[in-house]
Amino acid sequence: GLGESGLAAARALRAAGAVAVCWDDGADRREAAAEFEIADLTRPRRGGALDLLIVSPGIPHHYPAPHKAVEAAWEAGVPVDNDVGLFFQAMADPDRPGADEGDPKIVCVTGSNGKSTTTALIRHLLTGAGRQVQMGGNIGRGVLDLDNPGPGEVVVLELSSYQIEPARRLAPDVAVFLNLSPDHLDRHGGLGGYFAAKKRLFEYGCPERAVIGVDGAEGRFLANAVGPEAVQIACGRKLRGEGWSVFMNKGFLTEWRGGRQMAAIDMRACPALIGAHNRQNACAAYAAARAVGAPPRKLEAGLADFPGLAHRLERLAKIDGVAFVNDSKATNADAAEKALLSFDRIRWILGGRAKEGGIATLAPLFDRVAKAYLIGECADAFAQTLGATPHEICGDLAAATARARAEAEPGDTVLLAPAAASWDQFANFEARGDAFRAIVAGVGKDAP
Ligand code: ADP
Repeated sequence: GLGESGLAAARALRAAGAVAVCWDDGADRREAAAEFEIADLTRPRRGGALDLLIVSPGIPHHYPAPHKAVEAAWEAGVPVDNDVGLFFQAMADPDRPGADEGDPKIVCVTGSNGKSTTTALIRHLLTGAGRQVQMGGNIGRGVLDLDNPGPGEVVVLELSSYQIEPARRLAPDVAVFLNLSPDHLDRHGGLGGYFAAKKRLFEYGCPERAVIGVDGAEGRFLANAVGPEAVQIACGRKLRGEGWSVFMNKGFLTEWRGGRQMAAIDMRACPALIGAHNRQNACAAYAAARAVGAPPRKLEAGLADFPGLAHRLERLAKIDGVAFVNDSKATNADAAEKALLSFDRIRWILGGRAKEGGIATLAPLFDRVAKAYLIGECADAFAQTLGATPHEICGDLAAATARARAEAEPGDTVLLAPAAASWDQFANFEARGDAFRAIVAGVGKDAP
């Protein structure tokens, strides 16, 4: 697989003296890798046996059916691994340059939702606390694209289930589990397989510290299995006991350890971390930063000045008392629910290419919507679900934003949370969010 992480793996292998032989089912991706030997790895290999097959996250390594290249490797007795497995192998190598001076700390973040936010927040918190930090994996640089970390440096990796499952070696110092909801089930043979993939980070990886979200049953199961090494986090209830926990209590992020309160941080002072889901991310990131030794005071400042990530409840502007918020990453009803729960009087821009189930599950939140402005392919279908909730079919994003701006009153929030894929009108959710940002910037200029 010759996407960004695959190319980074090939380059890293070459730099380490290996011969990288590459394949991708897409001809354009093969062209992008013309600097390497290209060979169809789905066929029995002639000339030179392979020592190792490295798969990219997009390559099915097991369900719904193993990719032909994986099957060919199994058939030929060639081990199958991925860039994450290689990364941990390299970190454990006593000959790694700098290995004698001390080890870096490696923090891995997984979960169904909130991985990117939590990973970026951990980096932000630790940088603010004066630590050297690199961030990679599913966000930023591929794991084999990172610089060789120095002693005491922290490497924060966002890892999806696709990246954890095939890794032959996993050895994080701190592992974070946020939450679990059904996703990618075809690739894991069902929900049990999906959870099992994420669990590997904790069971096989044996982290020194596990930060585990216990708002859901899977997290409680995992915390029980891990035992006293777990730092439990919750945004739905208090967690007090003799162990270590970080939880939300009356708007305060609260840390308890050994029966004592260590910190209480007012989350009202943290504008980028609005909504219960972000409170969960904040608790997890705080706990991970504490687990690598950062002091509470420094983390409090970092929570307050975290700028947030683009396209995730990103506050673009306040114009004449009306807030404009870009949550283009809300590509399904589940994510849009988190956005709707975060504001009161909402001018909701939504639509695109519908996902299964549409927006039916959001009906209990329609009373927060002053009016919906519909765009894209599924506008008619969404209009039907909205029923008596005021709505208007606008066609495209520019028209919808203009209508919402014209009708909004001070105190309203114009929220792009499409609850649908972007592909009918945009290349991806980033392009959709960037377009919204540009339109809002234009609106700002026209404002009297
Ligand atoms: P990921 O990297 O796991 O996809 P992101 O941090 O990019 O997660 O957030 C994606 C979307 O998921 C956000 O726009 C928000 O709607 C929702 N989300 C973020 N954090 C959480 C959470 N802790 N629980 C549930 N939903 C969340």
